[in-house]
Amino acid sequence: MGIKRISAAALMAVCLAALSGTAAFASSATDLGYVDSGPGVGLEETSPGVYGESTLGDAGMAQGGTSQNVQGTGGGQADDGLIGHGETAPSQQEGQQQAQTDPAYEPAAVEVRSTANIYGLGLRQDVPDHTAIKAPQNSFITALALNLSGVPEGRELGISYSVNLSGSGWLPEASNGMGAGSQDGTTPLEGVKLWLTGQDQAYYDICYQVLQNGSWTGWVRNGAEAGNVGVGAFIQGFAAAVVRKGAEAPELNEGTAVDPSKPMIALTFDDGPSASVTGRILNALEQNGGRATFFVVGSRVQSNAASILRAHQLGCEIGNHTYSHKYISKLSADGIRSELGTTNQLVANVTGVSPVLMRPPGGFYDSASLGTVGELGMSAIMWSIDTRDWQHRNAQKTIDNVLSQVKDGDIILMHDLYTASAEAAEYLIPELTRRGYQLVTVSELAMYRGGLAPGHVYSRFRP
Ligand SMILES: [Zn+2]
Repeated sequence: MGIKRISAAALMAVCLAALSGTAAFASSATDLGYVDSGPGVGLEETSPGVYGESTLGDAGMAQGGTSQNVQGTGGGQADDGLIGHGETAPSQQEGQQQAQTDPAYEPAAVEVRSTANIYGLGLRQDVPDHTAIKAPQNSFITALALNLSGVPEGRELGISYSVNLSGSGWLPEASNGMGAGSQDGTTPLEGVKLWLTGQDQAYYDICYQVLQNGSWTGWVRNGAEAGNVGVGAFIQGFAAAVVRKGAEAPELNEGTAVDPSKPMIALTFDDGPSASVTGRILNALEQNGGRATFFVVGSRVQSNAASILRAHQLGCEIGNHTYSHKYISKLSADGIRSELGTTNQLVANVTGVSPVLMRPPGGFYDSASLGTVGELGMSAIMWSIDTRDWQHRNAQKTIDNVLSQVKDGDIILMHDLYTASAEAAEYLIPELTRRGYQLVTVSELAMYRGGLAPGHVYSRFRP
């Protein structure tokens, strides 16, 4: 076929490398199980423009600790079957053959987690069940990787999918976290179909829909095509949900999708994490569908790994604030490499993603230190609103500093070490949301507003 297997890890490496212009990438297993891959692993063996996963055999590489997937058990599942152009996914029919349910079994709450590559923006990772992933205007989704979570031990349930890639048609099916779509992240998807595999598909339906020509298609399920293919209409949004067999699909949650035409700002928190303060900020973000960027100190990463993992899973970005809060302008190039490199590795050990942003402690940098930051493929992020929360430790002052100045494109500096900062965040996050600001990560803000280059410094991203 000329189509080689490629793992989700390679997808991530490719996309991250494309996004950041660097080879930096995680080298350890994570919640999503993205395992070690150098940049471009296996790509030279891939046919141009497309890739697919023709068997379930490699799925273990990308399996998460929370999802338990099965290889095509029962019912003659076509686990080596490439799906031909225009063919229907096989498992819809086969699912009905093996729909034997045990009336005494109470199915667990299973969810689907979606990762998409968005042209010009990079990855939206691990997006929760029935939550929209949305590309900016003039952009589109180029690849998908899907996983189930909540499958109980010993139960057999997996997810398979095929995507229709512009100019290539339906690609071979992929399963359980494997990437499916444009290999170089530049070609749009036009259609998708998803189906469940394994004995327990008798208890569940997989629902999904896409955003095309500015409107959502509405939910379809179990192998049906979503998206109008072959007419030049690109997929700009995607959502998936697992429901009990025959149950109504949930309401689409568009809460975390960025609308590029509306105001957006980046809340940033330095010097943490700290279990209680970071936890309170994450609660407020989760309740309001917002995200923030945490510039963590490397020496605090291992003891606060749970906070970092939760932040990552909520779609927040983890940035690098050096290992021991050193002023990079006072360090040698080797010293900077060590402070930033160690921290990148520690964060990658937790989230699977190596930070691409750093914030200079104290805000100090010079051209030499920026050069080293750039060599590491990283950008330096300053701020446009300094709350000075670390100094006055007064929640009301922090709130006033933000609300009296805030404008579209701001980067707001706070610190997730002080109780007063948590209090301020708990007020500001719903209030800024109410005022129409989308709370996005620095990388999201940057990519919707002109992008980032390694070794450059940014303090705001105005429209
Ligand atoms: Zn600091």
